[in-house]
Amino acid sequence: MTHAFDASIVTRFAPSPTGQLHLGNARTALFNFLAARKYGGRFILRVEDTDIARSEERHTQALLQDLRWLGLSWEEGPDVGGASAPYKQSERNDIYNEWLTKLDAQGLTYPCYCSQAELNISRKMQIAAGQPPRYLGTCRNLAHAQRAEREARGLQPTIRFRVPAGKHIQFDDVVHGEQKFLSDDIGDFIVRRADGSSAFFFSNAIDDALMGVTLVLRGDDHLTNTPRQLMLMEAFGLSTPRYGHMAMMLGMDGSPLSKRHGSTSLHEFRERGFLPIALNNQLIRLGHSVMNDVWLDSAACISEFDPSRLGRAPARFDEIQLRHWQKESVAKLSAEEFLSWVQPELPAELTVAQCVTFSAGVRNNVEVPADVRQWLPVVFADQLEYSNDVRTVIQDAGKAFFTVAIELLPRVGLEFKALAKELSIATTRKGPALFMPLRAAITGHTHGPELGPLLPMIGIDKIRSRLVAASALASN
Ligand code: GLU
Ligand code: ZN
Repeated sequence: MTHAFDASIVTRFAPSPTGQLHLGNARTALFNFLAARKYGGRFILRVEDTDIARSEERHTQALLQDLRWLGLSWEEGPDVGGASAPYKQSERNDIYNEWLTKLDAQGLTYPCYCSQAELNISRKMQIAAGQPPRYLGTCRNLAHAQRAEREARGLQPTIRFRVPAGKHIQFDDVVHGEQKFLSDDIGDFIVRRADGSSAFFFSNAIDDALMGVTLVLRGDDHLTNTPRQLMLMEAFGLSTPRYGHMAMMLGMDGSPLSKRHGSTSLHEFRERGFLPIALNNQLIRLGHSVMNDVWLDSAACISEFDPSRLGRAPARFDEIQLRHWQKESVAKLSAEEFLSWVQPELPAELTVAQCVTFSAGVRNNVEVPADVRQWLPVVFADQLEYSNDVRTVIQDAGKAFFTVAIELLPRVGLEFKALAKELSIATTRKGPALFMPLRAAITGHTHGPELGPLLPMIGIDKIRSRLVAASALASN
């Protein structure tokens, strides 16, 4: 399979604004964006809000914001305009009507008066007979009088596309390779709903063709829609895009990624403090393999992306892997970037100098900004609260250990290495038996940031009183 994409490539992301952007859709958006950037083409954002009952403007706005946050930009879209405006399907009804008229003129449409209940029964009977369900063409050849009679009963018809008989529909899917369908297996499908709104197959196909889209990467739940859409575009004499149908995103247990796996929307990960570049690094590895399996900056994501490395196997989303890329991404932040990232979590009363020293001291123990909170008391609290673990460690160490530490402190000072060395000589402890009780007493934690940089921040008075408190606890 050759793909031969070049700077003429036009991709698009076409979300339906019915809720927050699912991680699987965020990946679709990212891949279409990366494909356009890789070859120097254009990326379009189109909002598919024809389902008036479920689409909401606030979802559209949130969607645009989350995509921008992820690092995406588009040459054409509802907020930036473009040659094919408008980019919200709810504003394109005149265009759909115009193209539907062209279909009518070719005799390729007819009104269908079947009720939902009738369609359901037909569907069930076909399934019971072991046949793939499709519309059987009940209204295909209604006589004029039969139509008039139904109209007189006040029935609101849908409009169906008259699928041509005996046609082979083939296309070369970027992910799945050669695909073959027979039109006889495809029932006449709805192009306009009874309420007058355009049906998905119709508006999606028309818009891709009119907007000059050349590559559509989308979920493989759309694979069987593609022959329908190709037939429509062909009927219009419009040029068709290439399609690539990507496997859906699963949770670690192999079922579709859903709420019970934890966070599933891009927005949730954003709220939790994940960095956009961490999500880029995770998403580009789901259903797509990278040549260079290292942390990628945004330019490297573009050069690493290759439509021919999209896989057929469903990808499993693993939050542990995302957290790995998050740690790498945090480590790449400069001191200033790190500080401004965690700043909203720092108490307003800290001085700039305190913020700088504190954030430098804890950054290796911070995965998301909120993590700084647990280290704030370590530096700034007057009195520590001990967890049961910390209590046990302190009590096991015994009073004498802390008495020695208190004696050494004024003489040795806040140089951690020197303090540890003197304490080791005086108590004959080393390794965890030395460091663990010291850490527990001074920080109130059994793990955490390196002690060295922390000591000067905590200050000698607080360290002394914490050692005194530990010694009191140990003698109980
Ligand atoms: N609005 C459709 C969806 O969200 C778009 C499908 C496509 O990309 O063609 O499923
Ligand atoms: Zn019908």
